[in-house]
Amino acid sequence: MTHYPHLLAPLDLGFTTLKNRVLMGSMHTGLEERGDWNRVAEFYAARAAGGAALIVTGGMAPNEEGGVFPGAAGLFSDEDIANHKSVTDRVHAAGGKIAMQILHAGRYAYGPNCVSASDTKSPISPFPAKGLDEEGIQKQIADFATAAARAKEAGYDGVEVMGSEGYFLNQFLVTHTNKREDGWGGSYENRMRLPVAVMKAVREAVGPDFIVIYRLSMIDLVPNGSTFDEVVTLAKEVEKAGATIINTGIGWHEARIPTIATSVPRAAFTWVTKKLMGQVSIPVITSNRINTPEVGEDVLAGGAADMVSMARPFLADPDFVEKAEEGRANEIAPCIACNQACLDHTFGGKISTCLVNPQACYETDLVYNPADTFKNIAIVGAGPAGLSTAIVAADRGHNVTVFDRTAEIGGQLNMAKQVPGKEEFWGLVDWYRTMIAKSGVTVKLNTEAGVDDLKDFDEVIIATGVTPRDPGIPGQDGPNVVSYIDVLRHKAPVGARVAIIGAGGIGFDVAEFLTQAGDSPTENLEDWLAEWGVTDPGTARGGLAPEGPKPEAPARQVTLLQRKAQALGKGLGKTTGWIHRATLKMKGVEMVGGVNYEKIDAEGLHVSTGETREDPRVIACDTVVLCAGQVSDRSLADALEAEGITPHVIGGADVASELDAKRAINQGSRLAANL
Ligand code: NAP
Ligand code: SF4
Repeated sequence: MTHYPHLLAPLDLGFTTLKNRVLMGSMHTGLEERGDWNRVAEFYAARAAGGAALIVTGGMAPNEEGGVFPGAAGLFSDEDIANHKSVTDRVHAAGGKIAMQILHAGRYAYGPNCVSASDTKSPISPFPAKGLDEEGIQKQIADFATAAARAKEAGYDGVEVMGSEGYFLNQFLVTHTNKREDGWGGSYENRMRLPVAVMKAVREAVGPDFIVIYRLSMIDLVPNGSTFDEVVTLAKEVEKAGATIINTGIGWHEARIPTIATSVPRAAFTWVTKKLMGQVSIPVITSNRINTPEVGEDVLAGGAADMVSMARPFLADPDFVEKAEEGRANEIAPCIACNQACLDHTFGGKISTCLVNPQACYETDLVYNPADTFKNIAIVGAGPAGLSTAIVAADRGHNVTVFDRTAEIGGQLNMAKQVPGKEEFWGLVDWYRTMIAKSGVTVKLNTEAGVDDLKDFDEVIIATGVTPRDPGIPGQDGPNVVSYIDVLRHKAPVGARVAIIGAGGIGFDVAEFLTQAGDSPTENLEDWLAEWGVTDPGTARGGLAPEGPKPEAPARQVTLLQRKAQALGKGLGKTTGWIHRATLKMKGVEMVGGVNYEKIDAEGLHVSTGETREDPRVIACDTVVLCAGQVSDRSLADALEAEGITPHVIGGADVASELDAKRAINQGSRLAANL
């Protein structure tokens, strides 16, 4: 039986056939720049072996000025070609196909030599770009063609020309960035001349029977972006110029509308790709927030595209397609679209990995071999740290028992999943449940494990997590004060006016939870599009609704506070913090920093400002919610040590500050790999 008939159907490209409709989309992992080519090969070969029909690499610079940052990888020398050949050979040996993305960043290049259509500076880079002269333009075209020819020499099955996301080619297409008055600017015909010239040059350089994908921005989400008529015109010209496939790009990097974050509804932009279907005769790929085989199947069955692109889901699980084929979709480790270990790492100059799968990009470093001796292992705490330890340890052959005092596994993930926009956490908890059962781990819920329960195990792992920090504010024991646990876990009643003490990840989550009136817009595409002001690019340039964002009225009046005298939300994720700040702003949340908490009484929260406690005032509210951080729960670890048993302490029980699921899962998996 074929489980996903559309998703798993082959795609005949004439000169070659893709074995299914799943493209592993391009991601910058940072591996190529480190120069460990065995590691690069291992990363891609694992995804090829796992069934992706075609892999697109992270963006390779066609030249120095087009690199995303100084030193960005590209095919510049014979040595580079040989290194890439080692990767393509391994992918082919694993039964896959791989295309190299050619990425010219234009004004997004993080370096002083960046170039663009005109003298402009992007809002997301400190470096102003220089507008190219005729000679400079011809050089860029030639460099694209050379990169494509070298990719062919390196054994790639194709190239993807990156023409979306606001990068170089996109910058020529729209008046937002192209202010030229010569033959490369002005009319749309002139503005699209460069992308089309690049496509022609690339096709000429590689000859026929070589996959050339053009990634086309179908909805720019920036002012003066393309109309959909222009998108169609470009798509037709790109086809004529020799493209084999058109892939979808959604939104420029500088767009202030989220396009891939977890709060974006699944498959939120496939309707845009669908508008192009039937307008060109080559296959069209759709993209963004497709993260399960079911979603991919529905998208294809609904005629939105010929193929789906998934990128981050292949970090979370290299065997995505194989598991789908084998009817084991519930075993696919879900990408929860958090960006915490992939894009946030990329933008922080670190190697990408995955919160759910710490082996991603660490395939040669974090290896789960069968254990030499099988042990009896007790794990206390069924949060992400304990669960990931349990699964890896059991898979290595150990006999594992997990204890948790609550009635369900998942720990703090069960609070996160209550927050509007974090619905993906439900799937993560479900996945843990599946994998725990499959691994044969014994789970003892509603069980407060004590020293006597643990003393006979060979190894004891304490993953008891955290408890809320006591902020010691006079009046915090009053009836109008609750903690984030009361709100998110126990659904404690909360009044119409709320003050939240603490603006970390949890303070922001609680503010989003308390201001959301009806159903989460993440669960309703129309509501979500209206909330962020996205409309049909057929009716408004760039797909920006002329009336702007239309958020729903907030359910409550919320004030979010912190003691630090700095902008709130600075510590949130690099690529997602702005979304949380924008969401709360749309909900009218007042953000107040630099306060001292004086006391809480029936009037509300009394605060003052600065070291000399000036400007005393009351934040009038019905409920105060404490989100003042967390401290390690080491009580059981201490009791064991007192009895001469030395446990392994992981996750929040080990270090509470800056605890997140990424660190907990990584630490647990690494410990289990060595038990
Ligand atoms: P947190 O990020 O450490 O924030 C704690 C907040 O409490 C801060 O705003 C801090 O600000 C305040 N605070 C600290 N000590 C205080 C005290 N004695 N009295 C009053 N206020 C105090 O912790 P969290 O919000 O509990 O989050 C826990 C972890 O979960 C974090 O590492 C976070 O990254 C993670 N998390 C992440 C996400 C996400 O979306 N990625 C979501 C939820 C949680 P001041 O010291 O300035 O007052
Ligand atoms: Fe997906 Fe988060 Fe993993 Fe990135 S870190 S691949 S967004 S689950």
